[in-house]
Amino acid sequence: MTNDMNSNRQLDHLFSNSAARLDQWRDMNAKAQAWAAEARIGKSARGAESVLEALAALRPMETYFAFPGARLLHTLDDRIADADAIGAARLILRMSNALLCGSYRYDEDEWEAAEESSEHGPDRTPPGMAGSLSWRPYFEALFVSPAPAARTAAICREIRELRRHDDAMIYEPVMVGSVEDAILATILNGKLEAVVIYDGIPVPSKHDAPLLRSFLSVYQHLDTSVDTPREVGLKLARMIANIRPELDIYLLTDRKVEQLAGDPAASVIRRVFYEVEEPMEVHLNILEGVRERHVTPHFDNLKLYAAKPISTFHALPIARGKSIIKSNWIRDFGEFYGLNLFLAETSATTGGMDSMLEPTGNIKLAQDKFARAVGADHVFFVTNGTSTSNKMVYQAVTKPGDIVIVDRNCHKSHHYGMVLSGAQPLYVEAFPMTEYSMYGAVPLRTIKQALLDLKAAGRLDKVAMLTLTNCTFDGHIYNTRRVMAECLAIKPDLIFLWDEAWFGFARWSPFLRMRTAMGAAAALQEWRDDPKAQQEWEAQCGELGENLDPKDPRLLERVLVPNPKAMRIRVYETDSVHKSMSSLRQGSIVAVRDEDYQHHVSAFREAVFIHASTSPNAQIIASLDVARRQMELEGYELVMRAIEVALAIRIEVGKHPLISKYFSVLGADKMIPEEYRASGFVDFLTPGMNWLTAAKALKDDEFCLDPTRLTLVCGTAGYDGTTFKNLLASDYNIQLNKTSRNSVLLQSNINNTRSDVASLIKVLLRISEDIEMRLRDSGEAGRAAFAEKVRGLMQDVPNLPNFSQFHDGYRDDPDSATPEGNMRSAFFAAYNEDDCEYLPLNSRELDQRLEDGPPLVSANFVIPYPPGFPIMVPGQIVDADTIEFMRRLDVKEIHGYNAARGIKLIKPAAIKM
Ligand SMILES: *Cc1c(COP(=O)(O)O)cnc(C)c1O
Repeated sequence: MTNDMNSNRQLDHLFSNSAARLDQWRDMNAKAQAWAAEARIGKSARGAESVLEALAALRPMETYFAFPGARLLHTLDDRIADADAIGAARLILRMSNALLCGSYRYDEDEWEAAEESSEHGPDRTPPGMAGSLSWRPYFEALFVSPAPAARTAAICREIRELRRHDDAMIYEPVMVGSVEDAILATILNGKLEAVVIYDGIPVPSKHDAPLLRSFLSVYQHLDTSVDTPREVGLKLARMIANIRPELDIYLLTDRKVEQLAGDPAASVIRRVFYEVEEPMEVHLNILEGVRERHVTPHFDNLKLYAAKPISTFHALPIARGKSIIKSNWIRDFGEFYGLNLFLAETSATTGGMDSMLEPTGNIKLAQDKFARAVGADHVFFVTNGTSTSNKMVYQAVTKPGDIVIVDRNCHKSHHYGMVLSGAQPLYVEAFPMTEYSMYGAVPLRTIKQALLDLKAAGRLDKVAMLTLTNCTFDGHIYNTRRVMAECLAIKPDLIFLWDEAWFGFARWSPFLRMRTAMGAAAALQEWRDDPKAQQEWEAQCGELGENLDPKDPRLLERVLVPNPKAMRIRVYETDSVHKSMSSLRQGSIVAVRDEDYQHHVSAFREAVFIHASTSPNAQIIASLDVARRQMELEGYELVMRAIEVALAIRIEVGKHPLISKYFSVLGADKMIPEEYRASGFVDFLTPGMNWLTAAKALKDDEFCLDPTRLTLVCGTAGYDGTTFKNLLASDYNIQLNKTSRNSVLLQSNINNTRSDVASLIKVLLRISEDIEMRLRDSGEAGRAAFAEKVRGLMQDVPNLPNFSQFHDGYRDDPDSATPEGNMRSAFFAAYNEDDCEYLPLNSRELDQRLEDGPPLVSANFVIPYPPGFPIMVPGQIVDADTIEFMRRLDVKEIHGYNAARGIKLIKPAAIKM
């Protein structure tokens, strides 16, 4: 498939390179089999040419991977040179099979060229299956060494000889000899877990990598003209840590080791060795470093617990499974899930089973590991989803009367969180995407305006927090760093809550990490630590003064710089680990990077007590622990693949002549107005786009698009989103969860593979063919009806209603110039049914009230799915736009609205003014 994606491929074409490598292997295999077939029937062996060509194309890439490695490739070279077509084809088949199914990681025979092992084929016992007791996790370690190429094989042998029988894991060395090659290996080889750098290595690769070269000189200020710049080892370590912070990096140097170890710039290095130190020390450190990530304190302990003979006298009948296994009636439940589920069920907080409410043992350790993995100071596990994580943050950091600036489209847990805490929402609007009946994200200008208005009104001190969804359901990603920096320029102690329910995986993509809350918090801190920050601030003071004048129109037009001495970095991020990583449903975390967290320690503990169950589910906690382990060890590779899968779908839909007639996937150009793409970035698939332009867009643009979220327009195929979703589910077993009037949202994630692309494309093709056939058979009238249907879905779209305003009766200070409201008082006012009334949506009475008043005041939240945000909140004045939108909504599921009774309102007489 995607062959045009691979043609003219360069090593540094980073998006989709690992898929491209496997494609190239498949391609070479096909050529080798053809050559062997020719040879078998005694034809002249012209096929050798094309095999040689394919091999030459692959060879530079192969230097970054341990398997098949130089030795097997040598054997292959020999066979081709001997015109042994059958032997070469057999070896290529074996190698490419081993690569595709990963068997080289546990089957030593795969590394041997001997023919007899080829008979086994690729379908041997996979790891962890019965009989493979000797299976050990496999990874690769990168050695960056200035040793001459002729010594490489010998060095690899020496490294392998360090292996001991009781090593818990096994690794293969990958040797490279330059800074550029080390970076390419880091990017391309997802199996790497550790990097050993010898100081004094040269910079340039012998391969051609022009993009990388300009990246190094422009972004990393690495002088590529000097062969081995000073401290090149340390520089390389920092660059690698920037790409993949989870890797363990070791530096071998003959400089003063003690001095280096104390250098703050060396904090990315796990250990510095004096070059002549024992190789065994290095070996043991490599294993120990990976083991540290592999350890899952809570899960490991749960396994031990399940294996112990224990009698329980606590109130949890299913613990140990006896009530199930011995039952006459519910045994199948036990058989379905397996005994371990019940052996691991416990309400104990002894025997190493930590308390979720006040963790001090294994759960605490597991949380600390998660915090390190995501770059936070603290992580709290939550077993009731991010719905609860969000409410906990409101509970812990806001109090009645505080103002929270919040995107009205954010998840309902935020609105309810404010009802609970008494914080008052000041709703800000995202830019609308009316054609697709969805919202984008909130422009920074709107947020700055809100803060400046509050400042002008003398209410800035009331503002506690800004809440935004990053990324949005549809994939809009904020420039988290810039939003925070500019807001802090206006209010230096503002707290940020970034709802990253969908975005947890982004931590493991070097492209997306900087746009996560935690990634941006780190970047802000780094900026502040640089003396340059103070200069930037002083330059701004020279122009705008120290105390910004909220009426100064220039403030909206320019990038504002915070005062490095006054600003506080106070960032909260919530992730539904279950939405983008391998956690059981409801597994969620709150990640905290708040310099003033000490103010909230007890409030946070209270928030846990208020919201967390006293019977937390041990399996969900274990799955959080395990999800972290997975991401720290293979997250990079999996996320890269998820992005590749998404890009492949975009490409296939776009280029297929029939599918593209009826369907399209919206690119960044359609999802983000041009004014927010200052870098000039158009879309991932635009000709001439490469990762450097994408990286620039990711760094600078106000919004960018998460490539893994694909808005597939189906209105042009005559389907509204809901109908299309149901069609996919009922006829093709494809599940998805978000729709709009004329689109559905497809997502790729870490469980997708490229065969998923193929099956999706097949389905879209089938549907397109059906439409073609129907149109052909239905005559002129049928075609006109189809065109009318498409027009209705694509053009006749309702305007999206903006938030109107809170009724003055639900505003603490009706004279205030800023629009925040006391939603909590309206919410509880509606508890008295006598004070409420209902007006049917299509009644004349409702029209009359809209025209003549008194104003309609919503008694509760009304949330249609889709789009899934509240079009009415308690205390809000319901205006004509909102009613118009509701009347035109063609969805069945509207939470908070009872069609039989009508819209629930607070009676005018009940509103105290
Ligand atoms: C799903 C979601 C939540 C709630 O998360 P759960 O884990 O389902 O409770 C919160 N915010 C956003 C943006 C979401 O998409």
